[in-house]
Amino acid sequence: MTIALSQFGEVRLDRVSREFGALNALRDVSLTIQRREFIALLGPSGCGKSTTLNCIAGLLPVTGGAIWLDKNRIDTLRPEERGFGMVFQNYALFPHLNVRQNIGFGLKMRGMPKAEIDRKVNEALGLVRLQGQENKLPGQLSGGQQQRVAIARAIVIEPPLVLMDEPLSNLDAKLRLEMRAEIRRIHNELGATTIYVTHDQDEALSLADRIVVLRDGVVRQVGTPKELYEAPAHLDVAEFMGFRNRLKGTVVSVENGRALLDVEGSRISGVARENLSVGSTAYAAIRPDDLVLGEAGGNALKVKVDTIEYRGREFVGTAHSEGGLDFVFRSHQPVDLGSTVHLQADDQRVLVFAEPIKGRR
Ligand code: ATP
Repeated sequence: MTIALSQFGEVRLDRVSREFGALNALRDVSLTIQRREFIALLGPSGCGKSTTLNCIAGLLPVTGGAIWLDKNRIDTLRPEERGFGMVFQNYALFPHLNVRQNIGFGLKMRGMPKAEIDRKVNEALGLVRLQGQENKLPGQLSGGQQQRVAIARAIVIEPPLVLMDEPLSNLDAKLRLEMRAEIRRIHNELGATTIYVTHDQDEALSLADRIVVLRDGVVRQVGTPKELYEAPAHLDVAEFMGFRNRLKGTVVSVENGRALLDVEGSRISGVARENLSVGSTAYAAIRPDDLVLGEAGGNALKVKVDTIEYRGREFVGTAHSEGGLDFVFRSHQPVDLGSTVHLQADDQRVLVFAEPIKGRR
């Protein structure tokens, strides 16, 4: 291989903040990324994902804290001095340059001899599987092909870090899946270190070695996809990981890591994920998959069915309780609209959280 990424040990964000006037877009974000990791920055719109990436790239100055590449402080360097590869949602290709010229642009700017540029561009073309397309203009390529050019252009400069900001959001669903696999393949083949911004939890779960969940400019949880999926640390992370049912109740007891809640007069038990005190408000978080039609009694709530949709393998329904709680559930059999049923939760899979902190939600 002629493409050899710059080597380093770790990238470290040390209490990085970024303010826009009165708005704290990032607050004390600390994070260490090891070489060869694939990190996803995940969170809802406006949580600070792009701001984090742009601070790392140098496109935005930080207003507090520092960024380190091993022992070198880099947040004071200009973007071109950091030399990270960037891939954007809108590709940002030069429309008047062909594929080969687009990919080689950064190398030419660095004054690299033509023969060497050709060798590296050829290898990048091979890596993103675009051989044969090198003389086309971006306008003659599909969205997926344009994104491959953007990726080739980012890696051909042999950056220590590859930064990607929602690179797949302009592609249709099928191509998105294909390119997702391609991005991970390229990351592995190159031994790259990648930071990848997305608001799509499936994308983060399937691509990343570790996921950083952001909310309102604050890191809420960092963990492997399995850790985040199975053991979200806070209610907002759980909701992002598919726990779509949030049942507000009062803590009746807490014992051996389990909590019992009173939810509208019914008892719901689950795994306590935060410190809870008896008598306080808490929330049971439940995935639609873990709510099934059952009998009155343990871990069940009486609800009225509002909608029911056939989804091939199963039905997905919505319902509400007398006290106004909303539910999403799955069922293997059809359920009559307007009927009253009992939804039962698997108590091993119910997670119980304390009241969310105000201002962080
Ligand atoms: P999205 O997925 O919608 O792009 P995001 O998580 O990437 O969201 P950011 O773009 O990082 O969010 O924005 C974080 C916050 O900072 C938002 O409230 C946004 O409005 C604000 N913000 C971002 N850039 C600027 C700017 N140049 N000037 C003022 N406010 C900004």
